[in-house]
Amino acid sequence: MKGIGFLKVLAGGLVAYELLNLMNTGNKAVLRPPGAADEDEFLALCVRCGKCIQACPYHSVQMGNEQLGLGIGTPYIHARENPCRLCADFPCVQVCPTEALSNVSDVYDVEMGSAVIDQEACIAYQGTRCEVCYRECPLIDEAIQLNIYIKPDDPTHAVFAPIINKQKCVGCGICEERCVVDHPVAIRVKPREIKGLF
Ligand code: SF4
Ligand code: SF4
Ligand code: SF4
Repeated sequence: MKGIGFLKVLAGGLVAYELLNLMNTGNKAVLRPPGAADEDEFLALCVRCGKCIQACPYHSVQMGNEQLGLGIGTPYIHARENPCRLCADFPCVQVCPTEALSNVSDVYDVEMGSAVIDQEACIAYQGTRCEVCYRECPLIDEAIQLNIYIKPDDPTHAVFAPIINKQKCVGCGICEERCVVDHPVAIRVKPREIKGLF
């Protein structure tokens, strides 16, 4: 009996260990809501209360699960599905009971990440007028600018190519949601912690 009791305790311990591991699994490639601490600190500070998820009026904040390689119950944003709309009062940050989301007083503090354009996929770079991402960006002419030049192989047409200013882009993901091409999407937001890698 003693042996079985010991095995039960061991099994329980292993389950608890696995659960703890899953809860603590971070993913630096995921977009966290505005004002998130760096990923390791974020995982330590976030108490998985779901308040930011409830507070978001656009339902932009989703709850992570282990299938996504995220800490269970931690909030994240899938930009192509539903980006952050940069609310003026940042309710997600306001309701956070810890410092997991903090220090956002205006849009420039958001710092979720930065958009990157795939010039092969972007139709504007191929010479078709689009500019949807540029027009939809809340920081138009700051985060996205237009580079206008004559098409090298066709001097009668101009190219209106969007370019990203990494210093100004806050990573809200609105451009990614609105991009008119798919498979692949021509503009994607890289989360802040991998922003420096490209
Ligand atoms: S700023 Fe607004 S839209 Fe963006 S995650 Fe927070 S509550 Fe949602
Ligand atoms: S993520 Fe896109 S829409 Fe948002 S600020 Fe950056 S360039 Fe603009
Ligand atoms: S919306 Fe997409 S295809 Fe259009 S200019 Fe922007 S990145 Fe290019």
